[in-house]
Amino acid sequence: MHPSTYIEISKSAFKQNYDFIQSILLPNVKFSSVIKGNAYGHGIEVIVPVLEEIGVNHFSVFNGDEAFRVKQVCGPDTEIMVMGMLTPAQLEWVIEKDIEFYIFDIHRLEQTIELCKELNKKAKVHFEIETGMNRTGLSKDDLNQAVELLKKNADYLELYGLCTHLAGAESIANYYRIKNQLINYKKTLKQLKAMDIEPKYRHVSCSAGTIRFPETQFDMVRVGIMQYGFFPTNEVMINYLTQHKEVDDPLRRGLTWKSQVMSVKEVATGEFIGYGTAYFASKDMKIATIPIGYGYGFARALTNQGKVLIHGEYAQVVGIVNMNIISVDITDIDDVQVGDSVTIIGRDGDKDITVSSFSDISNQVNYELLTRLPNDIPRVVVD
Ligand SMILES: *Cc1c(COP(=O)(O)O)cnc(C)c1O
Repeated sequence: MHPSTYIEISKSAFKQNYDFIQSILLPNVKFSSVIKGNAYGHGIEVIVPVLEEIGVNHFSVFNGDEAFRVKQVCGPDTEIMVMGMLTPAQLEWVIEKDIEFYIFDIHRLEQTIELCKELNKKAKVHFEIETGMNRTGLSKDDLNQAVELLKKNADYLELYGLCTHLAGAESIANYYRIKNQLINYKKTLKQLKAMDIEPKYRHVSCSAGTIRFPETQFDMVRVGIMQYGFFPTNEVMINYLTQHKEVDDPLRRGLTWKSQVMSVKEVATGEFIGYGTAYFASKDMKIATIPIGYGYGFARALTNQGKVLIHGEYAQVVGIVNMNIISVDITDIDDVQVGDSVTIIGRDGDKDITVSSFSDISNQVNYELLTRLPNDIPRVVVD
């Protein structure tokens, strides 16, 4: 049965974005697809096979729960890297499954070594070093200790990566901080090399670093937002377009959120629409109800402000966003029928409701709005 409200995932859009990202990668840079946050709201179980078909074979997630979900659907040769949280039980599981993971403090390294000895397995670890973000990462002293442990336990540890995360590469305002982080990172690389330690993958870049500072790509990039069709910020997009003398956005949104008209009715001048007095009809109006609401991720803040597309025309939300229903003004849209398609995010004809326009109204950035898309809205993959 076709669902009444669903999120369409476009394979060709993902392919286009992947090709674009490949085009900005320097030679021999590995692409890791970041699918934390339920693949930025697109749905891990849906996105992994789509990306694998396109050629992706390395995925980065935040925690053990996500790694488990990827493992359920990915191919046998696909690699997974956990950048953040692991419970002790999950740590054991990732070691057993040859899943890569970050070491950002000595405690986790000691735990890892202990488990590896118990399991008689070698763990694939990435040392995350502190370079100036001050979130997670091994300090200088930690790193010295970690290197000692690494040398002592060479049978149980394989240093897959040396990494760090940039504290805001999407904004030029952070330029000096980023530059200092890179200096610190390179210094550490040199020190390790002097101790005969060379990680397989050196990686620091997210989407913004990858496109804006190509020299930060090293051996691998961890790209999230761009593969879904969004620049991290407008600043990054404008910077790219002006530098390359292009006018068109090279990325295409990977998702379209659709629903359908549930009911149509007329409202006379002088009536209020919906709960309370939030919307007063100052003219005779035609209203369509759409079966979505804040329970479906359509923010209550879009009350009297949000828009949807019906028949390629904008229809404004009138009244309060309910849990399951919104009402929209269709007075000036001809012949709207029950069952007609409604676009909540995406394109219909020559008009578009972008995630960013949607998120400006409710004060969320692309990242936040996407990851808030509820996983219980069915995903439908189309070409
Ligand atoms: C989220 C994240 C990324 C990807 O960031 P985008 O801006 O979405 O490309 C890369 N690295 C780490 C450590 C992250 O947490």
